[in-house]
Amino acid sequence: MLEASLVPMWVEKNGMGVVIVVHDLTAIRRLEQLRRDFVANVSHELKTPITSIRGFAETLLDGAMYDPDACREFLQIINDESLRLQRLIGDLLDLSRIESKELPIRMETIPVQTLVQSAVKTIEDQIRLNEQTLHVQIAEPFEIQVDPDRFRQIILNLLSNAMTYTPKGGSITLAVNRQKHHWTLRVSDTGVGIPEADLPRIFERFYRVDKARARDSGGTGLGLAIVKHLVEVHHGEIKVESTVGKGTTFTLTFPLDQKGEKGL
Ligand code: ADP
Repeated sequence: MLEASLVPMWVEKNGMGVVIVVHDLTAIRRLEQLRRDFVANVSHELKTPITSIRGFAETLLDGAMYDPDACREFLQIINDESLRLQRLIGDLLDLSRIESKELPIRMETIPVQTLVQSAVKTIEDQIRLNEQTLHVQIAEPFEIQVDPDRFRQIILNLLSNAMTYTPKGGSITLAVNRQKHHWTLRVSDTGVGIPEADLPRIFERFYRVDKARARDSGGTGLGLAIVKHLVEVHHGEIKVESTVGKGTTFTLTFPLDQKGEKGL
């Protein structure tokens, strides 16, 4: 007997008998709901900065532009909110290209230390300004097969989260280790941590543990969704462990030699 959620899509007769193809409506409905939630989330995320930009522009036009202090303050907000919009649109485009496999992936063989150092260079000043310490541990130099730009994006997203969710004085560690057939990249911090109940959901688009803190940090809520996809593009996997009040560790594992494997 067919369950309520299963509906026959078509019935076909062949020489052997009758083939009934059924579709699981629950899965279709779930996908529909996900799509609706995504559109609602995107609209909300776009609306927030646009409302703010419009509000401050109107206030300036209504006279605040003649007060130099207010003028500078409001223009700064308009600038910050425009940057947020730009980041959000960039992340959305990246995510949609990765998901539809349209993102060009250019695999190269590169020393792991070169790649890590170039990512670290981008963010180390910001970490220092935040009065946090960054430790980079690469046990031994070796070469990896990755798309350097995309891989830098993985490292930067994880480091920038570690920085955002770690208070002043805290420390962030990036450790690379090579085993026989795989290698790992670990980003850990001594930050606020993530409650156990939230851990399975943090790679979902727009899922945030603390909405206010995440939004204040200027994050788009898409960083980890992008990281997860990019890790998969590199045939790897990502795991997270966390203790509230103590810190979080993301561990990424990749096969060491991808030669002979089908690239994307
Ligand atoms: P966001 O732009 O909000 O940081 P992400 O997709 O990068 O979006 O992360 C999703 C959520 O996971 C964050 O809002 C935050 O609640 C949590 N999170 C990510 N990294 C960390 C971390 N290192 N420490 C604590 N919480 C984190």
